[in-house]
Amino acid sequence: MSTEHPETRVVHPAVTTPAGSRPLGVPIYQSHLFAFDDADEMAAAFDGPDGAFFYNRLGNPTVRAFENAVADLEGGVSAHATASGMGAINAVLMALLKSGDHVIAQSCLYGGTYTLLKDLTERWGVEVTYVSGEDPAEVRDALRPETKVLYLETIANPTTQVADLPALAGALGEGSGVLTVVDNTFATPLLCRPIEHGVDIVVHSATKFLSGHSDIVGGIAVFADAAVHRTVWDHAVELGSTADPFAAWLALRGLATVGLRVARQNETALELARRLSGHPAVRRVDYPGLPEHPQHEAAGRLLGGRGGGVLSFELAGGRAAGRTFVEAVRLVSLAPSLGDVKTLVMHPASTSHRKLDAAALAAAGIGEGTVRLSVGIEHPDDLWADVEQALAKAG
Ligand code: PLP
Repeated sequence: MSTEHPETRVVHPAVTTPAGSRPLGVPIYQSHLFAFDDADEMAAAFDGPDGAFFYNRLGNPTVRAFENAVADLEGGVSAHATASGMGAINAVLMALLKSGDHVIAQSCLYGGTYTLLKDLTERWGVEVTYVSGEDPAEVRDALRPETKVLYLETIANPTTQVADLPALAGALGEGSGVLTVVDNTFATPLLCRPIEHGVDIVVHSATKFLSGHSDIVGGIAVFADAAVHRTVWDHAVELGSTADPFAAWLALRGLATVGLRVARQNETALELARRLSGHPAVRRVDYPGLPEHPQHEAAGRLLGGRGGGVLSFELAGGRAAGRTFVEAVRLVSLAPSLGDVKTLVMHPASTSHRKLDAAALAAAGIGEGTVRLSVGIEHPDDLWADVEQALAKAG
């Protein structure tokens, strides 16, 4: 019988570890601290991502289960989970770059990444050369002795441009020392595993398809090489953009159905893209699964012939029609994210890209009447009925 007072004992409850059975689900280790019996073991835990767990900013068993699952899906050796997709992108770029370094980046990028690169240029002296992402020769021409990173998105947002990863990464040449970083959020590892095409680091907004249920914000970086992981980990733990165990647990639970969700979302997106293509209120549909998409051949090679769960289409009625459409939908939600079980819509010209004038919008491949649709897992006919009635109002 303990001699301590009850209020002391309550601070130190016994931690039950199951004996004779094991939890089938991954437990949530909602403890930010781990205690040691041996001081040397604790000291060793400070040494890298593979040490014993001791403080959540540096690692946690629930977070590690999510990291291992995504590393496995992507075909990487290891991963680092973060509090958001931007947390992963920041951790990677800030770990790899210093003042005077040079980045080659695709011009059509997620807005947050574009702003980060702009900030790295203006405040930290990193130079960036933007390329269209359509021609490997542009990458070869942009290469300099100071180039450290080639940054691409497998499927770009919102244009759905598909990056020919082996051709673009291959343009760097053998032994260039340049690391290729690819944002695979839109494609997911179910469609494309960039590491198999020579990419060094894959980043994701796990907020999107990986978790899939609009309940967390999260990110992850997956590595082809343990030494590169170590370089990023050293900076990431300083930056503190660490994933919380509960968010990692929700992401892991979502991840269990990512294969089913992504298959359904791809099938429905293709069906909607086909129906939209034939509609008189629609000027153009951008979807890699359609034969007329400029990178349809690359999508066949790199995405297993699938086009992803997001499509864009331009309404013939321009900006006013775009706004009318997004307000007219009933089942579909007007919301900024993507990759969710629910179908989501947005009008980039009046929201995410509202600061761009018509010329800048056109340069980014976005029309005034462009609408982005992230397709969920609802029945395709219900979605089409909603889209059709909104088109009738916007047409
Ligand atoms: N990458 C892409 C392609 C995105 O669409 C987003 C967010 O929309 C991000 C990264 C940033 O992710 P998060 O919002 O989780 O920081």
